Amino acid sequence: PAKTMDELVSLCKRRGFIFQGSEIYGGMQGAYDYGPLGIELKNNLKAAWWRAMVYERDDVEGLDAAIIQNKHVYKYSGHEDTFTDPMVDCHECKSRMRADHMKDIKVCDNCGSTNVTEPRDFNLMFKTNVGPMVNEESYTYLRPETAQGIFTNFKNVVDSTSRALPFGIAQIGKSFRNEITPRNFIFRVREFEQMELEFFCKPGEDEKWHQTWVDLRTQWWLDQGLGKENMEFEHVTGDDLAHYSKATVDILYKFPHGFEELEGVANRTDYDLGSHTKAQEEFGLSAKVKPNEHSTTKLAVRDLEENKMIVPFCIEPSAGLDRGVLAVLTEAYTEEELENGSTRTVLKLKPHLAPIKVAVLPLKKNKPEIVEAAKGIKNRLQKLGLGRILYENTGNVGKGYRRHDEVGTPICITVDFDTIEQEGAPVTIRHRDTMQQEVVNTADLPSFILNYFVN
Ligand code: ATP
Repeated sequence: PAKTMDELVSLCKRRGFIFQGSEIYGGMQGAYDYGPLGIELKNNLKAAWWRAMVYERDDVEGLDAAIIQNKHVYKYSGHEDTFTDPMVDCHECKSRMRADHMKDIKVCDNCGSTNVTEPRDFNLMFKTNVGPMVNEESYTYLRPETAQGIFTNFKNVVDSTSRALPFGIAQIGKSFRNEITPRNFIFRVREFEQMELEFFCKPGEDEKWHQTWVDLRTQWWLDQGLGKENMEFEHVTGDDLAHYSKATVDILYKFPHGFEELEGVANRTDYDLGSHTKAQEEFGLSAKVKPNEHSTTKLAVRDLEENKMIVPFCIEPSAGLDRGVLAVLTEAYTEEELENGSTRTVLKLKPHLAPIKVAVLPLKKNKPEIVEAAKGIKNRLQKLGLGRILYENTGNVGKGYRRHDEVGTPICITVDFDTIEQEGAPVTIRHRDTMQQEVVNTADLPSFILNYFVN
């Protein structure tokens, strides 16, 4: 794994995974742009999550709710009142910092002065104006979590799918938090993506489902290549517990800057549906909610055993996609000493996450027959639908191998004279991790590649 954040930042910039946002204007703190390879890696991680959470289960439906929502959503979700971090101002250098991130509450992170204010609450939501009139009433917020769109669509999903408990709704999308001190590359940013599941169950079954989801999510991260020894769990308690949560287990990963939260699995009880529902008094809610005068809809389902309408409890595994990208990059980053004394950098990404699945390299740049054969192989493999297959004609296969090691391409195929002249049109397959080469006939390539990636 990577030892320092710097080596990751440098690889990401050099090879086109991740760039500082607004770089040409001196940057924008807490915002990063995903480059040509970063977007592939991120999409692959999203697809793996969706596959595991939606396609491989039959009790979860997908959703993509709008980012901009009615301001009442955040009034009743509790975010307007309580989605805050404690902030401290330094009188000396005028910087601001998160009080709970300070090493010592009385010392400024930036200049070391002890002349700092008492902590006060800072709301992390970005406020924005909607519509052509700017007045007291025309505001809303950018969502600080994707979850609220799931709660507000609860009835729509139930009615359109005829779901009964237990079942879940999954969503991936952007969230925004005006973090006081964004830091550690893409670990803490102001614009990020979340992969969230809200899993609804009967009250009383919530604790069992909570543990089940902690286990399932841990296994999923292991399946993405994270090492067990680099993961830890933290039971969140007291003040650190979110306003909606009865119990939260954080899944931590050993990032280059230390063990930190990768995903939170929270028992949100009946807090959210209870807050947003019409006729709260009918449901004997267990959570303490704000009286709701605006909701038009009862967010309840029929409990088939007791034959009455209930507001379900909700278990939420909420993973940060950007933190996921950072974790798999950290884990995959390897520097190897080779026999000839040189070192190679290799990203040992799981094949399903690799930004480029296969690179097809003609051995000779200017030989039309070789070039044509290589392009033909690229086109045929691209049709398998595995992701990006790259045809790359630089004429320097050795350099190509090195570059593809560094960006995690699991397989390179070289096309040479044998390919066009010999029977079976053999090509050379070179494996990233072992650097071993083998010869495969062109006709067998699609099934060879399919077997390699689909398992
Ligand atoms: P932290 O304590 O690190 O601020 P949190 O407990 O506020 O995180 P949650 O509200 O539980 O985070 O959000 C769920 C997930 O969303 C987190 O586990 C994390 O992966 C991701 N996430 C939250 N805030 C950020 C951020 N500022 N940048 C990147 N990812 C984030």
